[in-house]
Amino acid sequence: MKSPHLIIIGGGFAGIEMLKQLNGLPIKVTLLDKNNYHTFQPLLYQIASGGLGPDAIAYPLRKIVGRIPNIAFRMAEVKSIDTNQNIVTTDIGDFTYDYLCIATGSVTNFFGNKNLQEFAMELKSIPQALDLRSKILQEFEKAVSQTESGQIEQTLNFVVVGGGPTGVETAGAIAEIKNNVLPSDYSEINKNFMKIHLIEASDRILAAMSEISSEKATEFLKNLGVEVHLKTQVKDFTGTELLLGDGSIIKTETVIWAAGVKGEFPQGIESNSIGRGNRILVDEISKIKGLNNVFALGDVAMMTHEEKYPNGHPMVAPVAVQQANLLVKNLQAIINGKETKAFSYFDKGSMATVGRHRAVFESFGIKMQGIIAWLGWMFLHLMLLVGFRNRLVVFVNWLWNYVSYQRAIRIITRPYKGKN
Ligand SMILES: Cc1cc2nc3c(=O)[nH]c(=O)nc-3n(C[C@H](O)[C@H](O)[C@H](O)COP(=O)(O)OP(=O)(O)OC[C@H]3O[C@@H](n4cnc5c(N)ncnc54)[C@H](O)[C@@H]3O)c2cc1C
Repeated sequence: MKSPHLIIIGGGFAGIEMLKQLNGLPIKVTLLDKNNYHTFQPLLYQIASGGLGPDAIAYPLRKIVGRIPNIAFRMAEVKSIDTNQNIVTTDIGDFTYDYLCIATGSVTNFFGNKNLQEFAMELKSIPQALDLRSKILQEFEKAVSQTESGQIEQTLNFVVVGGGPTGVETAGAIAEIKNNVLPSDYSEINKNFMKIHLIEASDRILAAMSEISSEKATEFLKNLGVEVHLKTQVKDFTGTELLLGDGSIIKTETVIWAAGVKGEFPQGIESNSIGRGNRILVDEISKIKGLNNVFALGDVAMMTHEEKYPNGHPMVAPVAVQQANLLVKNLQAIINGKETKAFSYFDKGSMATVGRHRAVFESFGIKMQGIIAWLGWMFLHLMLLVGFRNRLVVFVNWLWNYVSYQRAIRIITRPYKGKN
């Protein structure tokens, strides 16, 4: 009997977990991704802050697919899906499928604000992280030649919007640059001119964690010199002035937007299958409502069957991995006419690091803060990285950064000239 053809769009956390589980099964698989690498997004902020180079957190998809006979990879951007004809249209041609899995992740959500979209920096991909690294270093290079104090302050004001783990970790990393790199590399700049603001709309940062973790993370940030603004809305950004909800203005040229993401997927999904945050509505086995052979999982999918997650599961890597794992089992069940199993998320906890040797960590009711939490954070991230080389490179870089107090990769390889 001919093996069914499964197309997976997206080699992110969900996509590569599916590949691992599909290895050797009687299913012909084609993975499509617009990039030829997998990105370990949790460490993007370390690329942006010069702690790691991009090759440390990117892993070639062909290295995963390479010798697996039932799996092929095509570097292709999917433009649209025809769910009636079972055709996926890409920039390199059309592909037909028996089963389709959409694992295209998410993009930054500016909630319709065109100015923020144009001027604020994003942190969702390696090119964006490299842009941010260049922008930070370019601002320092500019400040060295500035003479008016108001001008220097504007150049050296860095604003991170969004007090979730990405915002907290990014603000902490920029504070480390201020404290350790600025005095050595840019001794002509008065370090006190540089300010880092973290802006959060709710009444605490890391709102998904316990209050004690939020408080500790706030304390760590303040100790590093970050100004934490709670209950503060961002209204607009002109490229040099950030307007806040209370009418006040922060003069800055660098705003990093970490305040929201939304699902991203190719055209062809019916509008009644799209839910809040532009996520595709799926049932408890990741099947898109109204379709028999098309599935969505990870960040792009909204599965709301459990009372605990009325707005869908959190957009984090373990959800993507666990959904992928179960989907492969359910696909086999569907192909063999057996019963499928409903997804249930096993939440192992959450964590965030705040600069050098500080972190907050919560798992199975255990709450830790400080250096032990930081060691736990480092260990887990090393284990989760794909590939031994990447783990080794990250470990050696972390060791070097720790002993030298430096961010090793302070080079502007591709100057940032704006988004357009
Ligand atoms: C800065 C940052 C920090 C984070 N930190 C953490 C953390 O500490 N812990 C945690 O659990 N989660 C974290 N996350 C979230 C986590 O990375 C996501 O939940 C996870 O990546 C979702 O996996 P996914 O497979 O759904 O999508 P992704 O990993 O985003 O993969 C999507 C893939 O689809 C491809 N793709 C997209 N569109 C197309 C198209 N049209 N055609 C072809 N290919 C396409 C992309 O190239 C990409 O490879 C973080 C995210 C960010 C941005």
